[in-house]
Amino acid sequence: MLFGTISHWRKQLTSGAISPVELVDELAAQMSAANPALNAYISFDTEAAKTAAAQADLSKPLGGIPVAVKDNICIKGAPTRCASRMLENFVSPYDATAVCKLRAAGAVPFGRTNMDEFAMGSAGENSAFGATHNPVNPAHVPGGSSSGSAAAVAGGIAIAALGSDTGGSIRQPASHCGIVGMKPTYGRISRYGLVAFASSLDQIGPLTQNTEDAATLLNVLCGHDTKDSTSSTHATEDFSALLGHDIKGLRIGLPKEYLSSGNSPEVAAALDKAVKTLTNLGAEIVEVSLPHAEAVVSAYYIIACAEASSNLSRFDGIRYGYRTPGNMSLDDLYSKSRETGFGPEVKRRIILGTYVLSSGFYDAYYAKAQKVRALVAQDFADAFAKVDLILGPVAPTPAPKLHDTSLTPLQVYLSDIYTIPANLAGLPGISIPCPQAEGALPVGIQLLAPHFAEARLLQAAHAMESEWAK
Ligand code: GLN
Repeated sequence: MLFGTISHWRKQLTSGAISPVELVDELAAQMSAANPALNAYISFDTEAAKTAAAQADLSKPLGGIPVAVKDNICIKGAPTRCASRMLENFVSPYDATAVCKLRAAGAVPFGRTNMDEFAMGSAGENSAFGATHNPVNPAHVPGGSSSGSAAAVAGGIAIAALGSDTGGSIRQPASHCGIVGMKPTYGRISRYGLVAFASSLDQIGPLTQNTEDAATLLNVLCGHDTKDSTSSTHATEDFSALLGHDIKGLRIGLPKEYLSSGNSPEVAAALDKAVKTLTNLGAEIVEVSLPHAEAVVSAYYIIACAEASSNLSRFDGIRYGYRTPGNMSLDDLYSKSRETGFGPEVKRRIILGTYVLSSGFYDAYYAKAQKVRALVAQDFADAFAKVDLILGPVAPTPAPKLHDTSLTPLQVYLSDIYTIPANLAGLPGISIPCPQAEGALPVGIQLLAPHFAEARLLQAAHAMESEWAK
């Protein structure tokens, strides 16, 4: 079902077994066949991909490799719509830094992947272009918001993809689709050209078929960027360096708050399996505590909505995208354009965000949420004084059914409980698939590391992945 990894295709390309243009053609043919059922891509330009492929430098680390890109990461000359009607006619005049880095490494940007509108959601259903389907079981959601990126990789119509993770949007769809998804430390990858949702939480990262490819992409994508004031100046390193090294003696924390009765049996079993595997590999499992684990969802939805209400105020019908036709006052033009351009979840968040920032409520909500955020970060600092990595679930359940109307927005928000903490604290996290019975929905396992410890994170994830591949 999978299309083949980056390392597989690099060998084929460098040996001359296939040319970059032929590879694009082959992938495009697969995509044309499978995409109508998955709705993973919402726009695609084969000619542009072939032109880039024809110029690809095979001596570069990603020479000739097509990489799918989430619809909120700008690609010059390509539609960048954030799966929103608001940006339905927007074509980006520039490349995001992450895309520049892909190109500089010889990669070929390949298609725009579906997503929850403006990255707000957990199921891929909040897209103006229709829901994405889970390739493992099309009656289920693929997760979100990087729904298309995850479904494309898992469905064999992408080799690898870029996503964005504000509260779990890379790790959670990776978990639901059975692939690897990684959120690096906040600031590791430039956000320049990533359409802002909640700027203090947003981070670009890779969705791949294995940990080796995740490391390869990180090696290309990370690094300081003067165009992003929050971009980290921390030195980059070879993120593949520790792959294959054993993890004997590594201390892995298991937060007692994560052994919740709210976890589904499949998720509890996956966590058990991860503990056994890590122990067999010589790691030491240590109980830790994250005392503010219960408060993370409330704090996140206040902070994320507050930032979103400010970031999305630029979409006013004047400067970008959708504008309601006809003559009317400026206020009417703003409100009517937004009324038609934004979907219900985006409106809900703008309203919530505006409310928590309004005078009289600011201290009660926004300022308090920022205090909780600081406490969450301190919880992790305390835990990481005792352990090297932290183990946990990615989501409390496997992928829900598509269009499950019994779930309220609040229930959906609670499903982010295990992914949000890494965003609030700026930590790197990875989701890797835990083996399941034939035909069962995928379940991922999450590892979290201290800031900038991506190499160690990948080392442990790779060790588990290798053990589970046996
Ligand atoms: N599910 C979360 C939300 O809806 C996370 C989204 C994201 O990471 N972009 O906000």
